[in-house]
Amino acid sequence: MSVTTNSPFARDAAFHLHPQTNLRLHEQIGPTVIRGGEGVHVVDVDGNRFIEGMSGLWCAALGFSNRRLADAAHRQLLALPYQQAFAHRVAEPVIDLTEALVERAPAGLTKVMLQSSGSEAVDTAIKLVWYYHEAIGKPEKRKIIGRARAYHGTTVASASLTGLPNMHRGFGIPLPGFLHVSCPHHYRQAQAGESEDAFAVRLARELEETILREGPDTVGAFFAEPVMGTGGVIVPPAGYFEKVQAVLRRHDVLMVADEVICGFGRTGHYWGCDAFGIRPDMLTCAKGLSSAYFPISALMVSEPIYQAIADQTDRLGGFGQGFTYGGHPVGAAVALETLRIYDEIDIVGRARRMGALLQEGLRRYADHPLVGEVRGIGMMAALEMVADKRTRAPYPAEMKVAARVSDALRARGVLLRALGDSLLCAPPLIIEEAELATVVDAVGEALDQVQRDLAGLQ
Ligand code: PMP
Repeated sequence: MSVTTNSPFARDAAFHLHPQTNLRLHEQIGPTVIRGGEGVHVVDVDGNRFIEGMSGLWCAALGFSNRRLADAAHRQLLALPYQQAFAHRVAEPVIDLTEALVERAPAGLTKVMLQSSGSEAVDTAIKLVWYYHEAIGKPEKRKIIGRARAYHGTTVASASLTGLPNMHRGFGIPLPGFLHVSCPHHYRQAQAGESEDAFAVRLARELEETILREGPDTVGAFFAEPVMGTGGVIVPPAGYFEKVQAVLRRHDVLMVADEVICGFGRTGHYWGCDAFGIRPDMLTCAKGLSSAYFPISALMVSEPIYQAIADQTDRLGGFGQGFTYGGHPVGAAVALETLRIYDEIDIVGRARRMGALLQEGLRRYADHPLVGEVRGIGMMAALEMVADKRTRAPYPAEMKVAARVSDALRARGVLLRALGDSLLCAPPLIIEEAELATVVDAVGEALDQVQRDLAGLQ
């Protein structure tokens, strides 16, 4: 890469403190600067086109050039670019959006609070777990249970709930009161010969033992992504959520579904909750809510929770929760248009059809020498690389095998994300069959190339 002082590469390294980036490495290799987007493609400053096989960060469900979403934002910017939702004020699109979300929500969720990011929605959910329990006279019920490998965000509380050590290291978190139970990944976590059902029973038992050990009177909520996304597209074993929810009901622990990735069709169901029979007390969503055309997230709560919270705000003379941009009219207008488009193009049916092709296509590589497991549901999938298919021993981390595969894919015009030993794939839901075939074929070619490269190293 040629670096001149004026180049965006040099200026980015000079001025921009990148999130989720090794900053010293960034100083050496500089950024990939993306200038444009068209359909499922993004285009860099040199004119190279890539299929964005991760929809950015699982979010650009409608791709990168949806005119209607741009127009919706433009219209709202001209009509009213800002209005807060504090203290009884509101802009019209916010009312429309909250109604549209409740119409589409899993049964029992009746009120919506808006924020700008998934982390804020999760953070708010955590605070409402505490606020709710205070309100109903159980202020000790504060502990929050998450799971190893879960991702729930990057604020202090949502990162504490996250079960990925790299989100804790260097920050002195998780905060006390955040607990993690096992990740429901059968391939990695099940004991030899343990069936999916027996595995699910064991995990539910572990959850119950954790609640009993801590004291049910001190445990407020269990948070779960229906399918773990950033943790590596972990689809839970059959019956898992049914068993987990029975435990939660027994001990009066709230179920919070984090649908920031799964919501709006990603799993081939409108909600991940629909796919797994989850009946949440609260639900967080973001990403697909606006197809990433505006930063917006939502927290939905059940009627009993709303009623208890409402009483408490009355007792306390106010509600000490809310963000400047929670209920932003432009975000609401864009999200509303997004939901309309989803209905019109039957986003769920589409995700299910294309998802079947994606899952089937990638499963072709289950026997590839580099691949230990191919997993996924709907339009989210992962391939896990292993050094030994029989023992499932991983490659040494420094070999960065998944990253090599993603580099080989990038050279073929396809952007997927390597995370640890896994290669993640979650294309825009509007992807066409031929484009999907390009992605799937490129994965095969990249796997073959890396296998040859590794053989050359030995
Ligand atoms: N929850 C889940 C399940 C997520 O995947 C993410 C983001 N990847 C978040 C919460 C946090 O969202 P944000 O990055 O918008 O704060």
